Amino acid sequence: MEEELVSAEGEKGHEIVIVGAGIGGLATALALYRKGFKDVAVYERSESLRVEGAAIGIFSNGWRALDQLGVGDQLRDKAILMEGDEDIWIKNGRSRKSHFLDGEARCLKRRDLIDALANALPPNTVQFGCNTVSVKMDPESMSPALQLDDDKAIRAKVLIGCDGSNSKVAEFVGLKPASSFPLAAVRGLSYYQNGHPFPPLFVRMRGDQGNASLVGRIPINDKLVYWFVAIHLSLQGQKFPDDPELIKQATLKMITGFPADVGEMIEKSDLETLSFTHLRYRHPWEILVGKFHKGPVTVLGDAMHVMGPFLGQGGSAALEDAVVLARNLAQKLNQSDGGRLIMNHKKIEEAFDEYVKERRMRIMRLSTQTYLFGVILGSTSSFVKFIAIVIVIFVFRDRRAHTKYDCGKL
Ligand SMILES: Cc1cc2nc3c(=O)[nH]c(=O)nc-3n(C[C@H](O)[C@H](O)[C@H](O)COP(=O)(O)OP(=O)(O)OC[C@H]3O[C@@H](n4cnc5c(N)ncnc54)[C@H](O)[C@@H]3O)c2cc1C
Repeated sequence: MEEELVSAEGEKGHEIVIVGAGIGGLATALALYRKGFKDVAVYERSESLRVEGAAIGIFSNGWRALDQLGVGDQLRDKAILMEGDEDIWIKNGRSRKSHFLDGEARCLKRRDLIDALANALPPNTVQFGCNTVSVKMDPESMSPALQLDDDKAIRAKVLIGCDGSNSKVAEFVGLKPASSFPLAAVRGLSYYQNGHPFPPLFVRMRGDQGNASLVGRIPINDKLVYWFVAIHLSLQGQKFPDDPELIKQATLKMITGFPADVGEMIEKSDLETLSFTHLRYRHPWEILVGKFHKGPVTVLGDAMHVMGPFLGQGGSAALEDAVVLARNLAQKLNQSDGGRLIMNHKKIEEAFDEYVKERRMRIMRLSTQTYLFGVILGSTSSFVKFIAIVIVIFVFRDRRAHTKYDCGKL
C-alpha cells in the first residue's frame, strides 16, 4: 500500500538519509539530487569534509560516472592525462611500460574531488559532527532511524550507509566486519617548485629489500606528484607513528633499495597530506553471497565492498554504485509535483534488489582481482603467491578490462 512520506512527529527526519560524507556519500547525495529527490540529508561524523589519502587515481569507468554526476569536465581541468603505466622490478632492473589505448586515467587531489561533489549539492545538505552509533528499525512503521552519539535520533524512509570500511550501517544490514591484509599504505603529495622530472605515467616499483614492497608514483600536474608506499606489517613489527614528520622518517627508512629519486620525493612531501592506513577488504565470497540491504536500508562504497587499493578502483566503484542506486530508486519511486516522495516499502526493496543485482558481479570481479593482488604482495608463502599469480594470469589476462565498465546513464 502506498503511503505519503512524512517525517515522524517530534523527531527530526528526512525522506532519504545518507551516513558519511566521503566520496560515496557525496556522490550518492548528488546522484539523488540530480534525479529530483528533494529531501536528502547526509550525516557526517567529522566537523568538516574529511580528506584522507592525498590523491586518487580515476580511470575511464570512474570518469564515466563523474560525467553522469555532472562534475567530470570541471575535474578534468585539475589533473593531467596519464599516457600509460610502467612496472619496474628493482631487483633485476626489469621494467615494462604499457599504455591505456582507449582509456582515460588521471590522478586527482582528493580535496578537488570531494569539493566538486560537495559544491554541486544544495547548501546544508551535509550535517557535520553527527556520529552514528547504531541504526534501529521501528517495528511498526518499518522506518529506520540513526542513533547519534548525542542521543538524538534521525528518522528516515530510506537509509544509505556510506560510512566506510568500519560501517555501522553494514553491521545493521548483517555484514561481517571487514578483514585486514598484512599490509598498510603511506600516502602523500610532493610539490616541486621548479617542476618535477617525471613522465605522465602511473609508475609502480616493486622492491625486495626493507619493509616497503611497492612504491607508486603518479604526477597530478607538472609540479605536484602523488605517491604511495605499501608496507609489510608482518615485517614492520612495531606500531606505526601518527605524527606526520615521524611517518615521513619511518617511511624513508623503509625504502632501502629503491632509486634515489623516491627518497627525494618523500623528503619533499607536504606533511599535511601524509597518512598511514591499514589495508582492508571484504572476501570475494562475502560479496558473492552477501545480503546488502535490509528493508529500506542499504550500503554503498567501502561500507559495501572495501577492497585493496591495488587496482585504484574502490573510489570509482563507489561513484558507479551511486549512479546505479539513484537510477533504480528513481525508476521505482514516484515523486509528486513538489518533489516529495510517494513510496512504499515494497518499491524501495525492489529498487535495492535491482541495485544489488546490478552491482554484485561487477564488485565481485574487482574484489577477487584485488584480493589476489593482496595475497601476492602480502603472503609470506611462495606457494600461495604462485597460485595467486597463476589465477591472475588466467582469469584477469586483460589487466585494464575493469576500466572499460560503463555504469550507464543516471
Ligand atoms: C592506500 C589506498 C589507496 C587508494 N587509491 C585509490 C585510487 O587510486 N582510486 C580509487 O578509486 N580508490 C582508491 N582507494 C579506495 C578509496 O579511497 C575508497 O574506496 C573510497 O574512499 C571509499 O569512499 P567511501 O565514501 O565509501 O568511504 P570513506 O572514504 O571511508 O568515507 C566514509 C565517510 O563516512 C564517515 N563516517 C564513518 N563512520 C561514520 C559514522 N559512524 N557516522 C557518521 N559518519 C561516519 C567518515 O568520516 C567518512 O567521511 C584507495 C584506498 C586506499 C586505502
